[in-house]
Amino acid sequence: MIQRSTCAIVLRVVDYAESDKLVTLYSRDLGRITGIAKGAKKSKRRFVNKLEEFSLLQLLYQTPRIENGLFFIAEAELLNAYLALRTDYRRYTTAAYLNELTVRFTREADPDSRLFTLLQWALASLERNDNPAKIIALFHLRLLAAVGYRPELSACGSCRLAITTGSGHHFRLVPGSGALICTSCHPWRELESTRLSPRTVAFLSNAQSFALHQLNRLQPSRQAAAEAMVALHAYTLHLLQQDIQSWPAVYALYANKSCPTAQALTDTSSLQSCGSPF
Ligand SMILES: [Zn+2]
Repeated sequence: MIQRSTCAIVLRVVDYAESDKLVTLYSRDLGRITGIAKGAKKSKRRFVNKLEEFSLLQLLYQTPRIENGLFFIAEAELLNAYLALRTDYRRYTTAAYLNELTVRFTREADPDSRLFTLLQWALASLERNDNPAKIIALFHLRLLAAVGYRPELSACGSCRLAITTGSGHHFRLVPGSGALICTSCHPWRELESTRLSPRTVAFLSNAQSFALHQLNRLQPSRQAAAEAMVALHAYTLHLLQQDIQSWPAVYALYANKSCPTAQALTDTSSLQSCGSPF
């Protein structure tokens, strides 16, 4: 069998049988793949300290012999362990959420090198501990755009009110449409948990227009980063129609209040009942 090589980031690792490991990765050339590392639990040379969550690897692999089969991981060279992500609870919890979002929004063997670069950027930024909630919001926003769910953040989707930080108007990202709605169009007291201040919307809007290498210049307040993170999670719950397992731990770290239920976050019935186009 021909062996090939690619760069990949480890998303998940589980033990398999007596001595093997099943590894889910996001690779630059193949997208998300699942591979088997034979003898990885006992190997002292080929895999020790390499097949760990978040690690950036140079993989030597063989393609599956059957459709939807497992890749065979022959060897792995460690390019970056991102060790700080595994030794600090806040950063570990944050990175685990990014990995889970990557798994949920991608399909097997559907490569997008932009997603690989985005995940690599996010893990490297987290290792520098550059405001973890900000990294979550920026990663999530760019991930949504890459998979076709870019939120529309230029104005209220109903009255077209522009986003100005001095207006006093607040907004909500409507989960059903990915558009904004302002407080004038719908005073949603019961949906306070997903409110976005004008500064938060401006932060997200800027993040959509910046190049990846410019994103670290954005310096939102902790409140703005947390608001953005919560709103994008609510939008994602609606898109996926299923819970994200690592979310409650992330929310407890950064949002600093009790976690609203998934139903409350994605419920659009009250918006529809007031004649909103959403
Ligand atoms: Zn409006």
